[in-house]
Amino acid sequence: MKYEELAEAYEILENSSKRLKKTWIISNLLKKTSDKDLEKVIILLQGKVFPSHDKREIGVASKLVLKAIATATGYSAKQIEDLWKKKGDLGLVTEHLMKSKKQNTLFNEELTVKDVFETLQKLSTLEGQGSVDQKVKLISKLLSIAEPLEARYVIRTTLQDLRVGVAEGTLRDAIAWAYLDEANPNYDDSSDSINPKDREKYVEIMLKVQEALDKSNDFGVVAQASRKGLNELAKIKLVVGNPLKVMLAQKVNSVEDAFKTVGKPAALEFKYDGFRMQVHKNENDVVIYTRRLEEVTKQFPEVKNYILKNVKAERCILDCEAAGYDSKTGSYTPFQHISQRIKRKYDIEKIAKDLPIELNVFDILVYNDKILLNTKFSERRKILEQIIKQEPKKIVLSKLLLTDDDKKAKAFFEESIKQGNEGLMFKNLDGIYKPGSRVGFMIKLKSAMDDLDVVIVGAEWGEGKRSGWFTSFTVACQSEDGFLELGKVGTGLKEKSEEGASFEELTNLLKPFIIEEKGREVRVKPEIVVSLQFEEIQKSPSYSSGYALRFPRFVGIREDRSSEDIVSKEEVEELFYNQRKK
Ligand code: ATP
Repeated sequence: MKYEELAEAYEILENSSKRLKKTWIISNLLKKTSDKDLEKVIILLQGKVFPSHDKREIGVASKLVLKAIATATGYSAKQIEDLWKKKGDLGLVTEHLMKSKKQNTLFNEELTVKDVFETLQKLSTLEGQGSVDQKVKLISKLLSIAEPLEARYVIRTTLQDLRVGVAEGTLRDAIAWAYLDEANPNYDDSSDSINPKDREKYVEIMLKVQEALDKSNDFGVVAQASRKGLNELAKIKLVVGNPLKVMLAQKVNSVEDAFKTVGKPAALEFKYDGFRMQVHKNENDVVIYTRRLEEVTKQFPEVKNYILKNVKAERCILDCEAAGYDSKTGSYTPFQHISQRIKRKYDIEKIAKDLPIELNVFDILVYNDKILLNTKFSERRKILEQIIKQEPKKIVLSKLLLTDDDKKAKAFFEESIKQGNEGLMFKNLDGIYKPGSRVGFMIKLKSAMDDLDVVIVGAEWGEGKRSGWFTSFTVACQSEDGFLELGKVGTGLKEKSEEGASFEELTNLLKPFIIEEKGREVRVKPEIVVSLQFEEIQKSPSYSSGYALRFPRFVGIREDRSSEDIVSKEEVEELFYNQRKK
């Protein structure tokens, strides 16, 4: 496929905020895509060049891209930078310069999807001496073949900042519209509405596509199968070793409301304050994923040992919370203490000793040859009890109370808090496991005002002795219209890294994601998630969400979370109204 066709679709997507229209545009593009290009187009539509479960990154900074643009257009780095400051987007800058470029097009070629995809993938493999020049060469070669519009998207994809807004749900629907006749929506462009012949059937098909996605976590695989038909789609199975999205909980504010939602009796469990681990065991192989499905097996060698020694199953997928504890006193420590283990690449054994974790297993999704997603919670728990040999401070089952009694539930909640946990989880005994969904059969009840998980979208360089660090950070919540600002925060970070999350650490984490720099202020890609505490939420015209946090302070950096996991604007609104009720 010519890259031009993709670029033209990107442009329409970028200029439309209508979800149905976007779905229509993508589905038409997919219909035209050959089998050979399908996976590439699907991945490129998501602004990436690797599928979600592949954690390789293009890893090219804007400075290098600038050089490539200079090489391809003949403009100086200074001229490009000046224009960048004005337009705020290197993609648009490149497009603009390409229209009046000083260099002639060297090749009389047409850019293909394959060229772009494979070249950008190649960038991630180049390392060491001479690699900068090689990368500049590869990018500028793409640009020298590209038309101006194509150049806009080549640059944005290279910088991992596509800005065309294709949500996962849109891509899913587009795949169904494109390939599954029964899901023909009869889209009407003039009224931007759909009118499927058989609505029930339509919904059923969407659910089937979603189910296949939940199991494979791979849009490419689902698209290929859908193209062959429903039978092929039904063959997509959950594979031990491949990560799948975790099931999430809804939130309530009282024991009464929790029971109302999950029914009585229910299974109540301690809500541990650690981070989620999805553990896959296939005979002697163990693979561990975080909640954002990043593989962390190497960082947790002790977990692998616990699984091999204490879990009696040839194959299984376990859902767990890894909770940290103090190696001297044995008491549980907050998440922030163990979070550094997630990214750690050296001294693994030492840090495992200093910051030990206990694996609290609370669910099982596959047991030998049985897939348990549609098995009742009570049955799944029974299997866990049969196959896990508990060893305190190593591997245990989450502490559980089966009850229908409000009073007993409240006492259990107090007990959990006293032991340093966050509160309780309430589970419907008949509930199934729905990957990737926030469901009403798993409910959380927490103690005080929650920490708020937000993403950093901007920062400001400090002054004086802090001039090498960012010292103020603009944070945002998520919404259907993208990320919306909630305010600025600078307190709570430490001067030295040994004391906890520090200015230096956060600065280093953010640097690769800078997409625009103006004076002391930078805009960054929404990648780094942090937990904040705050006094109160106020209405505010100063920030795009319409709300501001009063006295926000950092609690920690959430290495285990992605920007999809942060608080939504609706949740902020709800917090705002609830605080006023109190
Ligand atoms: P939070 O910030 O409240 O932990 P979250 O957005 O990470 O929420 P939710 O699904 O909303 O995720 O809340 C449940 C989380 O609590 C799980 O993701 C898991 O990490 C953690 N957890 C701790 N103990 C349990 C348990 N016994 N059962 C299920 N989840 C548990």
